[in-house]
Amino acid sequence: MIPVVALVGRPNVGKSTLFNRLTRTRDALVADYPGLTRDRKYGRAHLSGYEFIVVDTGGIDGTEEGIETKMAEQSLAAIEEADVVLFMTDARAGLTAADLAIAQHLRSRDKITFVVANKVDGIDADSACGEFWQLGLGEVYQMAAAQGRGVTGLVEYALAPF
Ligand code: GDP
Ligand code: MG
Repeated sequence: MIPVVALVGRPNVGKSTLFNRLTRTRDALVADYPGLTRDRKYGRAHLSGYEFIVVDTGGIDGTEEGIETKMAEQSLAAIEEADVVLFMTDARAGLTAADLAIAQHLRSRDKITFVVANKVDGIDADSACGEFWQLGLGEVYQMAAAQGRGVTGLVEYALAPF
């Protein structure tokens, strides 16, 4: 069985950018504004000797209320079918209410989850990422998906058990 890695998080945190890097395609639409990629999108990734399916999601519309509506149904479905969830956040934007709501849902699921603080390029990453420990999902992995920083190391760590 090829492991399935879902990219989950609110819009605009860099999920599609990471998807494109992992799958080496531009098929997942990368947009400068939130919410454009609406549906789950699957790709096959080969990295560092690991082969896996990566699932991009349109993200979670943080303007809605309640965890069930806040998390788009596609994102919820992606979490359920995943072996590993990469929960992406934006280190530049900081911790948001939507991030906390997503974290609450993920903590209620029995999924292997890694918190990713993306967009650490050009900022003081350590101080920017500290607050993401409040998500209650353990270690915070720094990443700059647009440059590939932090990607291979996290994949190797996350997929080692599979
Ligand atoms: P998604 O909505 O979560 O899929 O986010 P996208 O992948 O569409 O990215 C949203 C915006 O963030 C785009 O303008 C990306 O170029 C930008 N972005 C993604 N990753 C990084 C990164 O590592 N650093 C910076 N500075 N910007 C990034
Ligand atoms: Mg996207």
